[in-house]
Amino acid sequence: MISNTFTILNNGVEMPRLGLGVWKVTDDKVLIDAVHAAVKAGYRSIDTAAIYGNEAAVGEAIRTCGVGRGELFVTSKVWNSEQGYDSTLRAFETSMDKLGLEVLDLYLIHWPVKGKYKDTWRALEKLYADGRVRAIGVSNFHVHHLEDLLQDAKVVPAVDQVELHPRLTQQPLREYAQAKGIQIEAWSPLMQGGELLDHPLLAKIGAAHGKSAAQAILRWDIQHGLVTIPKSVTPSRIEANAAIFDFELTPEEMASIDALNENRRVGADPDNFNF
Ligand code: NDP
Repeated sequence: MISNTFTILNNGVEMPRLGLGVWKVTDDKVLIDAVHAAVKAGYRSIDTAAIYGNEAAVGEAIRTCGVGRGELFVTSKVWNSEQGYDSTLRAFETSMDKLGLEVLDLYLIHWPVKGKYKDTWRALEKLYADGRVRAIGVSNFHVHHLEDLLQDAKVVPAVDQVELHPRLTQQPLREYAQAKGIQIEAWSPLMQGGELLDHPLLAKIGAAHGKSAAQAILRWDIQHGLVTIPKSVTPSRIEANAAIFDFELTPEEMASIDALNENRRVGADPDNFNF
């Protein structure tokens, strides 16, 4: 077993390298079953957001999953329409009521809303100082957003959660974040289950280790020092996506996956989003 299953964030908090994404899972029973299957398979981290509309079900799943709150790492995010200082503080309380939690593990600014994200960050800094959240971070921040934020920030974001997969390897952002002590977390690591899962190179690399293309991608995330949060509601896939700590890609395999980069997104560009 490779024991590197946690990353230590810049404030000393341990965050699991693997988490379960729950975007688009709107049926409570499906969500609760997925979280239970994930916990059984060894996941200890769940990634939700106010806009996903499933924080209450995530809370219910946590309470009924059989492992203690202290063993779990829960992330949520403040949605764009709630950004600003006071509105973010209110949005946080709404999320916490839905989740049924006293303390959140990680709270993120979901997108860099122009003219607002610095006030939003001040609210996150207050929540952090007040002990309501163990770590604070951002999502969908390019290098220039981080540079701008850091000009005024008292707390350096612990995490930047961004779209990242073999078609969008985010090398410059990863280097910048590493220099600043910001952990990069990969959203849509499987490119939303599309073309990469049938890609011959990824299938071949996976097969060389008795694994699938999806497992090769998630292992590539781990070996790049990323946090990764694949979403699945299918028990066999939930389990397979966690079976990534018992093999190691070679440097050549890592480099050949890196070379698939096309700077191509499945989601919006953080410089040009309209929601
Ligand atoms: P993923 O890249 O995780 O892909 C999910 C899709 O892949 C689902 O359709 C799933 O199907 C399928 N899948 C999962 N595992 C396998 C497998 N082993 N083999 C074949 N198919 C598989 O996409 P997401 O966009 O959901 O990203 C993951 C998480 O990242 C989200 O759920 C969310 O938590 C977060 N996110 C954050 C964003 C942000 O702005 N901060 C934006 C987008 C995502 P099925 O469920 O049917 O098994």
